[in-house]
Amino acid sequence: MADKIQSIRGMNDILPDESPSWQFIEERLRQLLKSYNYDEIRFPVVEKTALFKRSIGEVTDIVEKEMYTFEDRNGDSLTLRPEGTAVCVRAGIQNGLLVNQQQRLWYMGPMFRHERPQQGRYRQFHQVGVEVFGLQGPDIDAELIYMTARFWKMLGLEDSVTLQLNSLGTAQAREQYRDVLIDYLQQHSELLDDDSQRRLQTNPLRILDSKNPAMQTMIEQAPRLMDYLDEASEQHFIRLCAYLDRVGIAYKINTRLVRGLDYYNRTVFEWVTDKLGAQGTICAGGRYDGLVQQLGGRETPAVGFAMGLERLVLLVENEHLQKHIKYPHAALLMMGERAQTAGLALSEQLRDALPQLRIFNICGGGSFKSQMKRADKSQAEFALILGDDELEQQLITVKYLRQSNDGRPQQESLSHTRLIELLKNALVEQ
Ligand code: ATP
Ligand code: MG
Repeated sequence: MADKIQSIRGMNDILPDESPSWQFIEERLRQLLKSYNYDEIRFPVVEKTALFKRSIGEVTDIVEKEMYTFEDRNGDSLTLRPEGTAVCVRAGIQNGLLVNQQQRLWYMGPMFRHERPQQGRYRQFHQVGVEVFGLQGPDIDAELIYMTARFWKMLGLEDSVTLQLNSLGTAQAREQYRDVLIDYLQQHSELLDDDSQRRLQTNPLRILDSKNPAMQTMIEQAPRLMDYLDEASEQHFIRLCAYLDRVGIAYKINTRLVRGLDYYNRTVFEWVTDKLGAQGTICAGGRYDGLVQQLGGRETPAVGFAMGLERLVLLVENEHLQKHIKYPHAALLMMGERAQTAGLALSEQLRDALPQLRIFNICGGGSFKSQMKRADKSQAEFALILGDDELEQQLITVKYLRQSNDGRPQQESLSHTRLIELLKNALVEQ
């Protein structure tokens, strides 16, 4: 036998058994985004490397260590997208979507980062991103947070996640804070690891983001950016908090939350869970009012977030996903050639009558026993049995595979009309 070719480490297949959880999340996401009147945008998976270097920042984990960058056959440097915001801005500028317009956009798809694979951290992973352009007030920041909070409810995750909030102020305010922070960090330089030593002058704020346990106490005692905010950013933050208070969305102000990308300003937030170990952030975002201009567009306020779908799938699988969304409602057994012909036609009629119905045709024939085995294995609620007797009498035999004995016979023969009624009721009960 030839060698088996394996997939790339950290890049996973999503198997048939797992895809119902993905669909469960994706369907609700689309419904959510529609209900807030957001529009989908799709863009390529590969972009020029310069796009990410210029937006995410040269001195960040993503650009320094995580990008899949390669030369194509023309010698151009290309990169598999590590995130979507920069790409969305590029597409918005290039297609004239941003000038004097308000846009509420979303996208969904794979992202690529060369990280150490572990639970909740992969090299190909999926994000849903939401980006809003042309609105500068805290009202739109609040809308995005309201939207995410509603989404956790739709997934039954509202008790599994908490919101962390911070403000990074303006670039000028950060400039001022930067000097104070460098001073402080220099006083503790013996505690800084290699990464942090290197970043001390180039990107000291990133040091606050460090997960190195040896540095945590020192970081906690560092001066707080919150105390150096400009007046307008402070007002923006206070108003955002009022919007959240108004609808009872709880949040924790985390003054160390700086996010791993350079383009953020003012509002930043993360939704975190303690149920996934170290990979606890499931949704993260903030304002990036300077990015459009930085990438060659006109000055345009902007705010957005990205959600990691793998982590959401893990959470949903931990908790809630009802088994029934994975399984067919009914399996159709067809005994003999005549029944096969009539049966496939019948299952089309059932689908016409009940578009929500999931019905599994047992194709390929076989004995009653072997077909029954397959029906059982499918976890369907009903076996629908069609043989010569049923054809003769224009009936169909229904065998209840899952229900406990509530006085109903385990099996009965029904007219087609009664069958449709039965299945319809079963759909309503779900
Ligand atoms: P982390 O701190 O976990 O590395 P991050 O700050 O790098 O996350 P963002 O770039 O803000 O993450 O991406 C937003 C979301 O995308 C994260 O909150 C997470 O849910 C998801 N995500 C990021 N990197 C990965 C990855 N390598 N594998 C799976 N999901 C990821
Ligand atoms: Mg990361």
